Amino acid sequence: MNQEIIEVIDSEQDETSQNWCNLSEAGSLKEGYDLERFVEPPRKDFICLICLGVVRNPLECSQCGILLCKKCAYGCSKPQNPFFSMSSITIKFNCPICRSRAAPREPSMILKKFISNLIVYCKNKDRGCKVCRSIGEIKNHEKECDFKVIRCANHGLCSKEGSKIDFITAKCIKSEKNADRKLKFVCSEICRKVVVMSYLLKADKSEEAVDQYKLALEQLSQIN
Ligand SMILES: [Zn+2]
Ligand SMILES: [Zn+2]
Ligand SMILES: [Zn+2]
Ligand SMILES: [Zn+2]
Repeated sequence: MNQEIIEVIDSEQDETSQNWCNLSEAGSLKEGYDLERFVEPPRKDFICLICLGVVRNPLECSQCGILLCKKCAYGCSKPQNPFFSMSSITIKFNCPICRSRAAPREPSMILKKFISNLIVYCKNKDRGCKVCRSIGEIKNHEKECDFKVIRCANHGLCSKEGSKIDFITAKCIKSEKNADRKLKFVCSEICRKVVVMSYLLKADKSEEAVDQYKLALEQLSQIN
């Protein structure tokens, strides 16, 4: 077969399978999960050859079956025609194992489920958290984790950062209408008074705000 015909066949095959990549999401993709996060050493098949972590958003080479993170699969692909504008570029996969240029595919549901059920430590383990969850569930825990790093809610005056567990809460009025109270995390009694006061001022409760201000001053004078 002459070269031109082969190329035509190639590009026809591509038509059906090129929507595996979406360049607009490329910036938000992440590399695989660090091996140290796993409670049990993960199977070698789940380790991405490019980043050496456990595959995240896995794609599978349709020829050799190797798994790669989506981000890493993008990384070993090339734009098919670099002279096109970005919006019309399709990128061609280039398998790091078998050199296949065929678009990679989503692995089966069962395989994806198996990976998302692997157990990992919370990312705040080094700060003292002992929680382990599946890959699929750990994000929900990390949002609420007592050891996550937060900043004192007294933003303007205090820049203290630390584990949530070392902070105290300040009950602040959210709005005058329903007198809803919102919990804010602060590093000290003084920051608590300042934050509560600023919310009282916003809710137009200036008398109570003045009381909080006096209490804050008293505490400051005790420290000094
Ligand atoms: Zn990877
Ligand atoms: Zn391959
Ligand atoms: Zn945690
Ligand atoms: Zn503070």
